[in-house]
Formats: sequence, structure tokens, C-alpha cells
Amino acid sequence: MIGIFGGTFDPVHTGHLRPALELFEILQLEELRLIPAGTPPHRRPPRASAAQRLAMLRRAIAGQAGFQLDERETRRSGPSYMVDTLCELRAELGEQLPFCLLLGMDAFLGLSSWHRWEEIPRLAHLVVSHRPGWLPEHLDDHGGPLAELADSCLVSDPRDLNSAPAGLIFMQPVTQLDISSTRIRALIRGGRNPRYLLPDTVWNYIQEQQLYR
Ligand code: ATP
Repeated sequence: MIGIFGGTFDPVHTGHLRPALELFEILQLEELRLIPAGTPPHRRPPRASAAQRLAMLRRAIAGQAGFQLDERETRRSGPSYMVDTLCELRAELGEQLPFCLLLGMDAFLGLSSWHRWEEIPRLAHLVVSHRPGWLPEHLDDHGGPLAELADSCLVSDPRDLNSAPAGLIFMQPVTQLDISSTRIRALIRGGRNPRYLLPDTVWNYIQEQQLYR
């Protein structure tokens, strides 16, 4: 079983990394692929270039067994759609390997706005981690197709995810870290020190590159 963790990572921070490691262990993943978006479809273009975001991720996961940087979305032209990435991974890794797409609750609640979103649960399980400010109860407000999906496909034991290649949903509380890339960028722009919200190796790189000023 592998984990797939997409994001803008502008920059990567402890709020990404700690939940990712907790899920890696709880799900007993063989590997966790971190896949930075080249051109994120739902938001303003990232402040750091794809090469810089890759460099920060490389530093952040150095030495962490099982964590792998997957550069495919930064190499593809056009918007980075997760459905395309999952189709590519399926073609490479086969139809049987269980895929777990890791999503924070905010990302899960926005899933129905993603390009060809209905195909995503057919390509991967959805593993949703709690994030400060985003409660599972919000699912009812967002309602509709996502709430229905969560009702019919939810499992409570992570071992069940091994029983099928895709199609299940698992929700996992993780250490709650109220950290966002937006806030880190704002701190740096305001001349404040973001240290300890992200790995030192990443903060050192940001300073070398004079990013987010
Ligand atoms: P930005 O502030 O620029 O929007 P972000 O901090 O939300 O960025 P992204 O790279 O957009 O980070 O997030 C990628 C994935 O990581 C999403 O699934 C998101 O839910 C999850 N995530 C980000 N920050 C946290 C956090 N503090 N706790 C749990 N999940 C998080």
C-alpha cells in the first residue's frame, strides 16, 4: 500500500510533515510519495518556483525512510490535476496496489470542486486527517455527494484499506498543528522569524534564496 500526498508546499512545513509521518506509520505504508503541484488549478500561482519547492521538500524529507519526492506534476505542462497523476501512477504501478490519497480535512471538503473528482475515489482510497479549524461535522454543511460518499465508504480500521485498491474512506485524527504556508509567508514578509514552524533546513534555504520577502 502506498500513500500519495499532493500539495503546493509553498513552503513545506511541520503541519504537512508530522501528520504525514503519523499516517505513514498508522497505515503501515510501504512508501509515501510527496507530489508538489506544478501549476495548482485552484489558487494563485505559488510564490516559489517549482524548482525551489522541490528543493525545500528534498531538504525536509532527507533521511526519512519511506518518504519519496515525486516530481511528475512539476514536469507536466498545464494545470496539475490529481486525477491525471493517479491515472499515471495506476498505469505504472498496476491496478491491484492499494493507493491512499492523503488529504487534510480542508482539502477533502473541497474535493467536489476538483477536476473529474468522481473518478478519484475509483483510483485511490481517501485518507482524511483532521486539521485545526476544519471539523468532520463540516461535511454535513458541504453535504451533497461528499457526505454521501463518506457515509457509504467509511471504514474505521486502517487495515481494511489493504482489502481493495481504491474506493474506501478513512478518517484519522493526527497531532493538530495550526500551521499554514500562507502564515509562514506572511511572517517572513513582515520580517518575523518562522523558525520551528518548519524544518531548519527549509528555513535556511528560504533565507539563502531570499524567498517570500
Ligand atoms: P497555503 O496556506 O499556501 O494554502 P497549506 O499550508 O494549506 O498552504 P498545501 O500545500 O496547500 O498547504 O496543503 C497540502 C495538503 O496538506 C492538503 O491536503 C492540506 O489539507 C494538508 N495540510 C496543510 N497544512 C496542514 C496542517 N497544518 N495540518 C494538517 N494538514 C495540513
